[in-house]
Amino acid sequence: MNFDKKFKIWIDEAWRWPWLWSVVACSLCFNPENMPESEFLSLLNDSKKLTEKKREELFDKLIEFSIWDNPKLFFWVWVVDSNLIDEINIKNANREAMRRSLVEILRKIDNSKIGSVLIDGNDNYTFEELEKKPISIIGGDAKIIEISAASIIAKVFRDKLMSQYALIYPDLWIENHKWYGTKKHKEYLKDKSKITSIHRTSYKPVKEVLNAKPKLLLHICCWPDATVPIMDLKKDYEVICFWYDPNIQPRTEHDKRFWELVKVCDIEWVEYIEGEYDVANFFNRIKWLEHTPEKWEKCTHCYDMRLERTALEARKLGIKYWTSTLNTSPHKDLDKMFNLWDKWSIQETFDKTKNENLKDKLDFLKIAFRKNKGFERSVEYTTKHDIYRQNYCGCIYSDTFPWWKEQFLEKLKENNETSI
Ligand code: SF4
Repeated sequence: MNFDKKFKIWIDEAWRWPWLWSVVACSLCFNPENMPESEFLSLLNDSKKLTEKKREELFDKLIEFSIWDNPKLFFWVWVVDSNLIDEINIKNANREAMRRSLVEILRKIDNSKIGSVLIDGNDNYTFEELEKKPISIIGGDAKIIEISAASIIAKVFRDKLMSQYALIYPDLWIENHKWYGTKKHKEYLKDKSKITSIHRTSYKPVKEVLNAKPKLLLHICCWPDATVPIMDLKKDYEVICFWYDPNIQPRTEHDKRFWELVKVCDIEWVEYIEGEYDVANFFNRIKWLEHTPEKWEKCTHCYDMRLERTALEARKLGIKYWTSTLNTSPHKDLDKMFNLWDKWSIQETFDKTKNENLKDKLDFLKIAFRKNKGFERSVEYTTKHDIYRQNYCGCIYSDTFPWWKEQFLEKLKENNETSI
């Protein structure tokens, strides 16, 4: 070959922004001694402005030009995969893909014949293999036929590989998002287990999904008992507190304890949901058992009511994991509660608002919060943050309830709060 004219090398990249797989760079130069016909060159344009069919036709032609005895063009494609992108970041990975494609094309051409190296974009890269810094051209895909040609090769090469990956990951909806961060792709990523080995895990949206903690609905019976569970569970779960305790009387006491919940949620930065105060439900559940001793039958029914309602809430919210602070207090019967938790993790719960039974199986975290000095830590916490500690369990039948039962029932009737 007689190269007496200077070669200009052009570099372009494809696939910088998608959330998956590699970045692809293409270095290309036309042979100044054997240029393609001007009719063909006039067809070259920014690959994004060409139809897929047109892009593939031009790609085939460009490949053909490169394999003749006296080629009309030289090119090389280099791919840097998502592992390296995650390790060195996309800008450096893109530079590496460009550098490696450049190194390969320099092997094909007499280096004394090289005039200049030009890059599409404004990255301002330098390459140790070149004495001079490449010239950056913004928007070169549309303006310069060599960059158009390089971008066509890089993109068609990418599309061909992408269609192969579509066979490996058929439910990745490649045809919908081409691996970019579209709404469909975000929807797909809602399920953490669907992140593939070719996702760029350093990209914020993917990273956020990967680092997301599973949600857990935590039933709160009272704030002193909730402090340690919240602090401990927060490390592994996104905790959502659920307040459902219509067993607490009077209403003023119930509300007072609820506002302590809000205070602790603010301190601990966790969400909370307030359940209804359906005190009639409580009295109906413990009917005829009112005078059984504390921790015995009436309390079992009281736990049962609160756990059933929490299981219903978890199913309504689509939260699989749940637990309760009921077992923090040393006054509660742990085995009894573990049995109830097993029951409501499996047993259907009725959703009145939809008039249907919710059947999702739940996963209850059987943690004895009172262990490892849980009770002592909660006392320490409530003292430090000035959290109110009640001196009776909740209902008027609690051993240490401070009012006369009769007075309280009178008050309830006056306020029409219950039908007992
Ligand atoms: S004593 Fe406590 S656990 Fe037992 S029924 Fe009353 S509020 Fe519920």
